[in-house]
Amino acid sequence: MARARTILIAGAGIGGLSAAIALARAGFRPLILERATKLAEIGAGIQLTPNASRALDRLGVLPALKKRAVTAKRVIVGDGRSGKTLAEAPLEDAEARFGAPWLVTLRADLQHVLLEAAQDIVDIEFMYGAEVTDFAAHARGTTALIKRNGKSEEELGIALIGADGLWSKMRTRLHGESAPVFHNLVAWRALVPARDLPPQFTEPVTRLWLGRKAHLVHYPVHGGEQINVVAIFRDTWRADSWNEPATIAEMPKLFARWSYMPRDLLLAAKSFQRWALADREPLKHWGEGRVTLLGDAAHPMLPTLAQGAGAALEDAVAIARHLARRDDPADAFRSYEAERAERTARMQRGARFNARIYHAGGPLRWARDLKLLWDGEKLIDRNAWIYRYRPS
Ligand SMILES: Cc1cc2nc3c(=O)[nH]c(=O)nc-3n(C[C@H](O)[C@H](O)[C@H](O)COP(=O)(O)OP(=O)(O)OC[C@H]3O[C@@H](n4cnc5c(N)ncnc54)[C@H](O)[C@@H]3O)c2cc1C
Repeated sequence: MARARTILIAGAGIGGLSAAIALARAGFRPLILERATKLAEIGAGIQLTPNASRALDRLGVLPALKKRAVTAKRVIVGDGRSGKTLAEAPLEDAEARFGAPWLVTLRADLQHVLLEAAQDIVDIEFMYGAEVTDFAAHARGTTALIKRNGKSEEELGIALIGADGLWSKMRTRLHGESAPVFHNLVAWRALVPARDLPPQFTEPVTRLWLGRKAHLVHYPVHGGEQINVVAIFRDTWRADSWNEPATIAEMPKLFARWSYMPRDLLLAAKSFQRWALADREPLKHWGEGRVTLLGDAAHPMLPTLAQGAGAALEDAVAIARHLARRDDPADAFRSYEAERAERTARMQRGARFNARIYHAGGPLRWARDLKLLWDGEKLIDRNAWIYRYRPS
């Protein structure tokens, strides 16, 4: 028989960890099954817009994260070639406008804070080196089939959440084999010590530089000690990994004629990690019975709307609320999916739209730049539907 309050979670990423915290606070006993034998502190910066930091507040970890993160004061969009500012908008009023701050942080810092909080909760159990390969549903619960130390094992719970990321096995099991959609975009990320850079790079500002077939984002992280740099190029290179080392000599030469400011920052970076950007089409339905998906497993998106982590955090808060309110986990999962599907699909589409617009050339670029120059201060208002979200 399934363990009475145990919810199985496949994956201890941002989504899995935050779901475990939210579920434990709602009275469940989450068992996290993580494929890796240890959580590696991998990843570059992540923006946590007010909807994401509100979710972190609900999880009770916002004060701890604020000690490591940076509160962004402004966003500035510039033309990569000329170095001219196209638009500028304040972010320091995010808390007054949207009820929560706009933070920028290292993915590793966010993971660290969530992991510490989860480890402090006695009801959360971790099993590392446990790859969920399949599941079986039965009347009173769900069995996860696991590969661990080369052997097959089973774990029982009243329900199972697939939070196993972009290459989710749980999604394949539910919806069949399908390859992620690669967009011929490659992100190069680096961390540069702030002490090595002049002040224009170290202010608490999110900067976005736009150019043909390339764009660059940078902001300070880790209490302002490091500058996160992400350069995204049109490129056909591919790998199923977040973390392929690369040197500047291998970088496409698209920045060669850019203005000194973005170029200097790239030159200051000693080493890079590459990942080929991919997402998937929105799903019509996510789960079945007492099984559902969460985070990237459900709705992977390009990073160009800065919502990958935010959407997973929102999912985590929502799923705990639905499970707490309904007796049958299957009913809870269907109402959770109904609440989340449309919003996350809109985010997926919004991220694709930004990716196209950021790299535009010709008339589209002119139209984009004119709009930015004209009403650039409304930059944030355009996505207010994302930032002001409060789970119903
Ligand atoms: C190593 C890494 C680095 C990243 N770097 C960046 C970055 O620099 N910038 C950015 O915008 N986004 C990055 N992301 C993605 C970002 O963290 C996610 O988009 C977002 O936080 C949503 O998280 P998630 O929990 O849904 O998925 P993920 O963060 O991808 O977590 C999925 C977890 O599931 C585990 N897992 C996978 N398959 C199985 C399985 N079969 N059984 C059990 N466990 C499994 C994985 O090991 C991982 O811990 C990174 C993700 C990872 C895993």
